[in-house]
Amino acid sequence: MSKKFRVGILGATGVVGQRFIQLLQNHPQFEITALAASDRSQGRSYAEACTWRLPANMPGEVSSIAVRPPAPPLDCDFVFSSLPGDIAKDAEENFARAGYPVISNSSSHRMAADVPLLIPEVNPDHVGLIDVQRKRRGFDRGFIVTNPNCSAIVIVIALAPLHARFGVTSCVVTTMQALSGAGYPGVASLDATDNVIPFIGGEEEKIEAETLKLLGHFEHDSIQSPEMKVSAQCNRVNVSDGHMASIHINLAKPAAADDIRAALAGFTSEPQRLRLHSAPEQVVIVRSENDRPQPRLDRDSGNGMTVTVGRITPDKVMDYRFVALGHNTVRGAAGAAVLNAELLVARGYLTK
Ligand code: NAP
Repeated sequence: MSKKFRVGILGATGVVGQRFIQLLQNHPQFEITALAASDRSQGRSYAEACTWRLPANMPGEVSSIAVRPPAPPLDCDFVFSSLPGDIAKDAEENFARAGYPVISNSSSHRMAADVPLLIPEVNPDHVGLIDVQRKRRGFDRGFIVTNPNCSAIVIVIALAPLHARFGVTSCVVTTMQALSGAGYPGVASLDATDNVIPFIGGEEEKIEAETLKLLGHFEHDSIQSPEMKVSAQCNRVNVSDGHMASIHINLAKPAAADDIRAALAGFTSEPQRLRLHSAPEQVVIVRSENDRPQPRLDRDSGNGMTVTVGRITPDKVMDYRFVALGHNTVRGAAGAAVLNAELLVARGYLTK
């Protein structure tokens, strides 16, 4: 028997699905044994079904795998899911009920009271909700764990060390989000070129709600949200990869700009202590140049898993403002889910 976990990918032909395949190449703990997508792709080999859109060739080990429907049984120990939200809701529940752990990118289960919305550096103790979920839903081996919205994860990784040290009481966020965040083919080129679109359906609500769940405390079998006001406004910009957020915050305790920088730059947590394979050495890089972060220059820091923060400045209306940037399909999607899976192995929730 293989020493590695055998994993399936739901939505394997999409933008996030392809990132999963790229990130899982030569992974020390996981090997891909099953792929699933829509009926457009089912029954064909992955090479026939998928137009590979990442640099370098499609990894040879997946090209001959036959694409299956996203329904159990699948030939794997657990599944990563990057299905569209409306499809994910029932499909993920069906897998969990059939005994498969589901590690999902999709939004459909994120805000369910018994589903962990996990960032291993921020709220690793929220994995305890898996026990609550299994009891409540009668799941045996299966469960659903989610990672956040691709902007929310960047914002919360920057807020978490500041909230822990100084207490963030309010936060106003304006995002500038990359085109790849809309999947493929995404935004029409005639809409994107020479343009900024000040609306991304459902995104502002997701950031506002998910931030509070992510920064909440796990107690008495549920997540208690902090006393914090969050306001988000989202824009689609003409950038291929990398979501940027301009963030204004008020703090409960006074902090000098150097204290803010030190809290962000020194942020380290359980994935770094456990030396998880996908954990970046530096969770946050703080840049002092007045023109950073920039998507093209900073999105690949820490193999796409590091968040870069710059422009930390005292603000005349709120206490501080700064800019945060992260790779939306790596830290914001596939990389986040792979790191979640690594934490779940370390915590004993994934077994063969
Ligand atoms: P995408 O490029 O449009 O890919 C969608 C995938 O789902 C494809 O594999 C597609 O298969 C499959 N699919 C579509 N309709 C289906 C159906 N009816 N039944 C089964 N499979 C179906 O989208 P994406 O950007 O990868 O996003 C996937 C999910 O991840 C979404 O829930 C999205 O919100 C979330 N997410 C995306 C990002 C990002 O930055 N892009 C970040 C975080 C989370 P076919 O190729 O066969 O059509």
